[in-house]
This record gives sequence, structure tokens and C-alpha cells, in this order.
Amino acid sequence: MPLAEIKSSEEAINLEDKHGAHNYHPLPAVLSKGEGVHVWDVEGKKYYDFLSAYSAVNQGHCHPKIVNAMYEQASKLALTSRAFHNDVLGAYEKYATDYFKFDKLLPMNTGAEAVETAIKIARKWAYEKKGVKETDAQIIVCENNFHGRTTTIISFSNDEGARKNFGPYTPGFIKVAYDDPDALEKAITENDNIAGFLVEPIQGEAGVFTPANDYMKRAKEICNKHNVLFMADEIQTGIARTGALLAVCGNCTCEGHCERQETYTRPDILILGKALSGGNYPVSAVLADDEVMNVIQPGQHGSTFGGNPVAAATAVAALDVVRDEKLALNARKLGNLFRRLMDDYIKDSTIVELVRGRGLLNAIVINDSEESSTAWDICMALKENGLLAKPTHGNIIRFAPPLVMDEEQLRDCVDIITSTLKQFEK
Ligand SMILES: *Cc1c(COP(=O)(O)O)cnc(C)c1O
Repeated sequence: MPLAEIKSSEEAINLEDKHGAHNYHPLPAVLSKGEGVHVWDVEGKKYYDFLSAYSAVNQGHCHPKIVNAMYEQASKLALTSRAFHNDVLGAYEKYATDYFKFDKLLPMNTGAEAVETAIKIARKWAYEKKGVKETDAQIIVCENNFHGRTTTIISFSNDEGARKNFGPYTPGFIKVAYDDPDALEKAITENDNIAGFLVEPIQGEAGVFTPANDYMKRAKEICNKHNVLFMADEIQTGIARTGALLAVCGNCTCEGHCERQETYTRPDILILGKALSGGNYPVSAVLADDEVMNVIQPGQHGSTFGGNPVAAATAVAALDVVRDEKLALNARKLGNLFRRLMDDYIKDSTIVELVRGRGLLNAIVINDSEESSTAWDICMALKENGLLAKPTHGNIIRFAPPLVMDEEQLRDCVDIITSTLKQFEK
């Protein structure tokens, strides 16, 4: 192998610092191995992973079934481009559309690409089906959204760091308050050119901001009433993370594969990424029914790697694991336990204000300013104590372990978290 063996965390960090662009601010943990809910650093220290690569690794690190499917396909046929067919894509598309109950799937690679694809579909639909005059289409998005980092997507971000000096910005987006159906309806009724409403069912990057239980349902009703596409970005919340197959399923108590209309808010466009491959490979997808998806015709959108055989085989295995191992059910059960145990602690805490979330997508809000380093310092102490988590905003820490965790491990983690927090109580 042309790569020299890295012998210490410091060495690896120095290499990145010297030769890599500075576009992230990682915790100083250099990981070299993962298995299930655990990762190990180059010094051999073992950690619980409480980020799961932003909910990509829902199925746990290096799940043998997913790794095998990926490896077998990679050693048979890896890439044809879409200039030709391959013998895996169609089977994957059938599997995934049955699984999520949509007519069609459009395969891409990263989350941001899938969001871009959804935006393109919605605009084209507005011109060709809704009768909006070309170039006039608007998409409504929410304050404090996170949908990725392309030029178009950062155009409607509130994150100044992600926006500033990257303009000129893409027009055609209207921002409304999150968790506010009235604001949505007002924006829609004020403008005849609305193509879609793009929304995260829970705002992960904004700090696991969890809206009212009926927000999705009401937003969908408003979209329906005004012929606007309801576009759910479930890249972080989807695929069992929040205790249901999709976060738009709300508090449905099935094992994640029903269509109970009283709880399930079916999006017109569903956007998936991250855990679609269990974090093993960049796989994203946009799902919709024919009347929407068919606005895309041959030659109008594409990606060299989108829908490649390795991605397709990996995604099927990753979705299989979610169903076989009942990960939605586990996320719901452990999530309820996690918030109950944390609430017990928070009652007498001065340093933690609250815990919020759904399933195993949770966050605690630290009683300090967004500019303070307290949350970062807590994450550094958690690292010392064998658990990796990361602040989302200055004073919020997200807790999102792989969904293959068991109850004993979760209780062990809560012990680590609460004993660490005790060090910071005033
Ligand atoms: C991670 C994420 C994205 C972007 O995905 P990438 O694969 O990083 O491009 C988009 N939307 C949401 C909600 C996400 O969590």
C-alpha cells in the first residue's frame, strides 16, 4: 500500500491540517475501526459513537450483511454509467419503491444532489403541470433549514458561515418560519407561483428542533389545498432514525411499514440519503409518483455514479437490515428510555436545560450562550470518557447513536453522559 501507516492521532491530524482544506472543525478523535455501535481510534481507545456520521450509520458500523453485499457487487461490476443498463439498478428501484410505497425512484449519490434533484423536479412540475410561467417558480423553505452545501442550497440557508462570499445566490426561494403552518399558508396564498414546500420533519442541524406533532400533517393539508408539492427532506430523519420508518410517519406505533393515514403524512417528493446505504457508500434518492416524476425525461438530468451497481446492491442490503432487525421499533423504545433517563437527570441540573427529539435523534440544550465553549468542552470530556458526540450549535449537543444499540449499552451511555455532565455543574 502506498500509504504510510499512521502511528498516532497527532500525526494524522497534522497531515490533514497541512494538506487538507479547512472546511470542517472536527473533534480531535482519529478513528481507524468501527463495529456496530463502537469505533476505535488509532491509539486503540474504544468509544460509543453518538453521532453515527450524522445518522448515516443507523445500521451500525461495518454491518457484515451490508459490507458483504457491497464487496460482492464491487468485485463483479462497479460502474457502467447510465449510458448502459446494469442488472442491479432495476431490482433496487423495485425494492425501494415497494419499501417506501412510491411509483418511482431517481438515484443520486449525496444528500445535496438529491435535494437539488427534488428542486429541479418541483420547478419542472410547476411549469409543465401547474402552469406557472417559466422562470417564475418559487419554492418555500424554512428558517434555519439545512439541506446541504451546493451553491443553490446555500442560497436559502440562514448559516452565514455557509453563505457569505459564495454568491451570487440562486433566486426562487421564499423562507417561512418553521413549525408554523399559518406562515406557510400565508406565503402560499400570497403567491401563485409556488411549486413546492421543502421541509425537514425535524431540523437536525438546527439542533434537533422538533416541531409540534401535527405540523407535518397540517403542512401537507395546506400544500394539497393549494396544489403545491410537499417535499420532505428525510436525509437525516428517515430510515428508522426517529422511531418510525420515516419521520413523517409521526408517532405511528407499527414497526415502520404501514400506511396508517391518521399518522402518515405522505410526501409528494421524498428525499433520502445517508442511512440509505447504512453509511457504507454515498447513496441518495428522490422518490415520487408518476405524475410528478415523469416530468423528467431522458437526457434531462443525470449523474455518472447515480444508480451504479455497488450503490444499488448496498442500498438493498441496508434497507433489508432496517426491516429484519426492526430498527425503527428499537429506536423508538430506546429513544423513550433515553429521554426519560435524561429528564431524570435534568430535573436537578443547572448545566442542562432540556432534552428533545424523537426516537434516537435527540439533543440536549446546554445552559450557556451559543458563543460559549461549554458544549464543546463537554464533548471533549465525553470523548475522554469513551463517547463521541458533537455540538450542533454553540450550546446544543446532538445524541444519535447507531440504531443497533441494545438497552444495556444505552444505559451505559447515559451513565457516561450524566457522570460527565456532573463535572460541569455549577
Ligand atoms: C446531511 C443532510 C443533507 C446533505 O447531505 P450530504 O450527503 O452531506 O450532501 C441534506 N439534508 C439534510 C436534512 C441532511 O441532514
